This record gives sequence, C-alpha cells and structure tokens, in this order.
Amino acid sequence: MKQITIAIDGYSSCGKSTLAKGLAAKLGYTYIDSGAMYRAVTLYFLRNEIPLKDAKQVDAALESITIRFASANNHTLLNGEDVEEEIRQMPVSNLVSPVSAIPAVRRAMVRLQQAMGKDKGIVMDGRDIGTVVFPTAELKIFLTADPEVRAQRRYDELLTKGVPSSLESVRANLQHRDHIDSTREDSPLRQAEDAIVIDNTYLNEAQQLQKALEIAQAVLKKNNR
Ligand code: C5P
Repeated sequence: MKQITIAIDGYSSCGKSTLAKGLAAKLGYTYIDSGAMYRAVTLYFLRNEIPLKDAKQVDAALESITIRFASANNHTLLNGEDVEEEIRQMPVSNLVSPVSAIPAVRRAMVRLQQAMGKDKGIVMDGRDIGTVVFPTAELKIFLTADPEVRAQRRYDELLTKGVPSSLESVRANLQHRDHIDSTREDSPLRQAEDAIVIDNTYLNEAQQLQKALEIAQAVLKKNNR
C-alpha cells in the first residue's frame, strides 16, 4: 500500500501530539514532534546563553546542534543527550516562540524535518507542517479547541507530570506563544487552504482519533486506487 504524509497543525496545547501519536500507531507510521525540535534548540540556546539577535552566534550554535529521536522511546536527543523532560519545562516554554521566529532556526529545522519525511509514512505535528514543511502532504489536519479548555488540559498534564505551575501562568504562556507563532514574519501559524479542521473542544481522545482515522483511511483509499 502506498504511504502518505500526514501534517497536523494548530495552536499550542490543542492535543496535536496526542492525535499524531495515535494516528501513527494505528497506521504503523513514524511520528515526528516538530515542536520538540524547536524546544531542543531553545534548550541549547538557554544553556549556552546564545543572544537571539546575534546572527553569527545563532548560526554557530545551529552548526553544533544535532537533533534525533531515540528509536526505543521516541525521546528527543540533543547532541545525543536525552532532554525529553527538560524541554517541557517552563524556562524552555517561555523562550521557544522567540527562538522559533528566527529564520535561520526555521531553515535548519525545516531541512531536517523534510529529510525525516522524505519516504512518507509519517505523521508530523507543528505549526507550519502543512504550509511550509510538507505543502504537498496528502492529508492536512488543522486542530482547534477553546483556549480555556486548552489551558486547563495543559495545566492538568503538567500537574500529572509533577511539573510545578499555575493555571494563570499556563494560560499566559499559551496566549503568548499563540500570538508570536501566528504573527511572526517567517512561516506564521495558519491553516493551510486544503486542511481539514477538527475542533476537539467537546471530543475526548478516542473520539478525536476515530474521526481523524476515518479521514486518513479515506485519503489512503483514494491514493491507492
Ligand atoms: O508543539 P509545541 O507546543 O511543543 O511547540 C513549541 C513551540 O515551537 C511553538 O510554540 C512554536 O513556537 C514552535 N514551533 C514552530 N513550528 C513548528 C512546531 C513548533 O514554530 N512546526
């Protein structure tokens, strides 16, 4: 069966990664979390105190970064180190959008993402996957949900993981990231014209997966005729 590329985009904490992971597992595809890649770059910039406005230092830093996903557990590896936990913490969340707005950072990540997806059979989630990374993806999904529901979900997730936070700070972080992500000059978050919108405000994980799976199966059928 001919494999396809599935792009999932949307605002912060819409449940993109949950849906992407679920779809990839059902279809036997590879799941790639593009946000984790921007988070890993941000962690490197934080640790090495890279000034975001210094193009030379930014370029040099990008040269010395390798990002991979561990085959055993899909954890994010920054220069070989498992940074999965650290990239989800607030210091990284607070800086990731300004870092992701730097064109040189985007160029490097997009190149890497396109190489990872060159053989198709991939589900990638992010902000510009359907518009920039894989504009010819056979299936593009744009996920949305009520902002308050998103903040509550992310807060509950952090609570479960034992990451200290408050609902107010989580809400503020989401609003801040959504604003930067959708107003930046280089590849802003927007819905691709040919994307299918799923609003999951009133859907649970299983219902959202079922809906997306039905759509994916229809696209697969069409592409294998
Ligand atoms: O998906 P996640 O919320 O972990 O992404 C963290 C941040 O990475 C986003 O807020 C955005 O600034 C950036 N990002 C991006 N392009 C992508 C994926 C993520 O700019 N494709």
